[in-house]
Amino acid sequence: MQNKVRVIFNYLKYRNTTRFKSVKAVRSHQKRGLRKLLRHLKSKSPYYKNYLKNGGFQSLPIMEKQTMMEHFDELVCVAITKEEAFRMAIDSEKSRDFSGRMKGMTVGLSSGTSNHRGLFLASRKEADIWTGTILGRVLPKISGHQEIAFFLRANSTLYENVRTKKIGFIYYDIYQPMREHIRTLNETQPNVLIAPPSVLMILADAVASGDLKVKLDKVVSVAEVLEDKDRDYFKEQFSRDVIFQVYQCTEGFLGYTCEYGTLHLNEDIVMIEEEPIDDHRFIPIITDFTRRSQPIVRYRLNDVLVHKSTACPCGTPFMALEKIEGREDDVFLFEGKGGGDVKLFPDIIRRGILYVAGIRNYQVIQTDKNNVTLLLEYDSNMDINEIQKSLTEEFHRVFEQFQIVAPRLSFGDYIHRIDKKMKRVIHL
Ligand SMILES: [Zn+2]
Repeated sequence: MQNKVRVIFNYLKYRNTTRFKSVKAVRSHQKRGLRKLLRHLKSKSPYYKNYLKNGGFQSLPIMEKQTMMEHFDELVCVAITKEEAFRMAIDSEKSRDFSGRMKGMTVGLSSGTSNHRGLFLASRKEADIWTGTILGRVLPKISGHQEIAFFLRANSTLYENVRTKKIGFIYYDIYQPMREHIRTLNETQPNVLIAPPSVLMILADAVASGDLKVKLDKVVSVAEVLEDKDRDYFKEQFSRDVIFQVYQCTEGFLGYTCEYGTLHLNEDIVMIEEEPIDDHRFIPIITDFTRRSQPIVRYRLNDVLVHKSTACPCGTPFMALEKIEGREDDVFLFEGKGGGDVKLFPDIIRRGILYVAGIRNYQVIQTDKNNVTLLLEYDSNMDINEIQKSLTEEFHRVFEQFQIVAPRLSFGDYIHRIDKKMKRVIHL
């Protein structure tokens, strides 16, 4: 099948999220997907073949990035070694020329949050499925011509421009100067904007200053956690009632926001096993039905997801989330007053900031149990000392509430960067 045809085929296949009438229907769809996947693994992946000799899906190990990299050569279903893939990925990263392919595969690097560098492989076909599914979820209904601007951290040829009568899909490399991108946006006048929050922030500022003049029908946040505060700012600047979210990482396209603003998991593309943290929170372990070259099987992400307790009126049986709380690594760890460690979830840290007025941008970094640094950008008309005083009080209230030995708080200047993932709450 030709590239464009395959994208459209997958768009049509995935755009309707209510074709499943019940959770039961989703489960039997997953069962079929799993059966096909296991058959494929048995014949193509030496690593999984070994496990599948004597058992089924449940006998397969829980995978993490480090293990995946250790067993890369036996695990992937194509004849590419880790060494070859790394060499090619690094070369294209340096030259920012991602046009090369290796044995028909696109090779990319993923930095992730931990120190392990990850590799990902995708065939032409997998890349087309990816584009089709994203389009299907972001634009389930198309009326008139849709011009889509898609900003991503380029690290492969996975992302290619698509142009048909109804859709223009232009991909922007965020490593190129933003000023040029803004000029292109003004020229091409997209009506759909898809970008990470760190880029949306720059574009929203450009709207505020009058440098960017676009009329958007849909704004979609991708690849980083979208904070409530930022979301509200985007709503205001882009004049939208809803900022949609696409929950996507190198390991897969995991979720999307429906027309009611609820975040749903793509249970027709991935199967999700849950590792519970408490009554509402869990860590997802994902199995992707569409990935064949580099299988994503029982892959444990380090995201913390929160279940939504109320039903969504959109009618899809796909699991609904209250939010993506952040990375498991970003849980802060403190010394408890009664001994032992006390965990604070990123959300609690964020709330400590939200209660204080006059902060434009922030980052909270924990370097060790006794030190927390707040990097801040202030509204220009505010008294900095006053803000720092309020923040100190707010944080001490939290420490008191959770019975934590108060760490030292220090302050610094916030600097906006788009070459790194934007994270408000970081545990080093
Ligand atoms: Zn919904």
